[in-house]
Amino acid sequence: MIYIGSHVSFKSDTGLLGSVKESIGYGSNAFMFYTGAPQNTQRSEINDLQTYEGMKLMQENNIKLENVIVHAPYIINLANNKEFDKWEFTCNFLRQEINRCNQLGVKYLVLHPGSSVGLDREYAINNIIKGINNVLVNDDKIQILLETMALKGTEIGSIDEIKTVIDGINQKDNIGVCLDTCHLNDAGVDLKEFDKFLDEFDSKIGLDKIKCVHVNDSKNEFNSHKDRHENIGFGTIGFETLINIIYNERLINVPKILETPFIDKEYAPYKFEIEMIRNKKFNENLYNDVYKYYKGDK
Ligand code: FE
Ligand code: FE
Ligand code: ZN
Repeated sequence: MIYIGSHVSFKSDTGLLGSVKESIGYGSNAFMFYTGAPQNTQRSEINDLQTYEGMKLMQENNIKLENVIVHAPYIINLANNKEFDKWEFTCNFLRQEINRCNQLGVKYLVLHPGSSVGLDREYAINNIIKGINNVLVNDDKIQILLETMALKGTEIGSIDEIKTVIDGINQKDNIGVCLDTCHLNDAGVDLKEFDKFLDEFDSKIGLDKIKCVHVNDSKNEFNSHKDRHENIGFGTIGFETLINIIYNERLINVPKILETPFIDKEYAPYKFEIEMIRNKKFNENLYNDVYKYYKGDK
């Protein structure tokens, strides 16, 4: 059995219950959400009743808690402490985000390691370590998953850099990794040789640290350092390679999350992408099927 789902919304008026309903509508048994808008740090109170009802609905639909992921907003940057106030704010925000995960019962929080911007890279990596060590407290249950990045601009997040960060974290049980297929491709990892990559990962970090995989095709060439996601089978990675990753036995229990683009920026493709992943059969009519489903025409 695979655990597959997508990024879904988490709205202040429907909370976790709304996210679960959306996921079920796509045929998912895993999902990921931001606790508010991904591009800002404004967050509203979490409604415990909606959380409780969401949990109940998850249970009824066999969605396990370990297949629910929160993604921290991508604007927070632990690597850059040039403005100390801002860096402190970021640390505080991350702490609050962990508290929100605790309140929601979520065990995994995906975090982009950050960008060095004008700073020396090694120094910036050390800021990430300091930040996470600052934020974690003794009995924390959360596992912060550092995402592998496309290495666009001054982005940090190669396998070696993630290893350096993990090595510096005091509470090892609270740190892990989220692979992103688009990012790996764009960073120059040959996904056609995925087992070779896993061997290397295993010797450097350990496969047991991988708790989530973002499954995205890429609009750009191998090693382009770009980071633009494409729908499954429509990009440069291709359907076969992505299917092989999703069904790889060594990561079979790890939830796979789609972050592919909406069709015409409006229509979620996930129901149909999940369908083709379950059938292991590429659907070249994805766009039309999505239009038909949401608009009832074309
Ligand atoms: Fe991400
Ligand atoms: Fe991602
Ligand atoms: Zn990305």
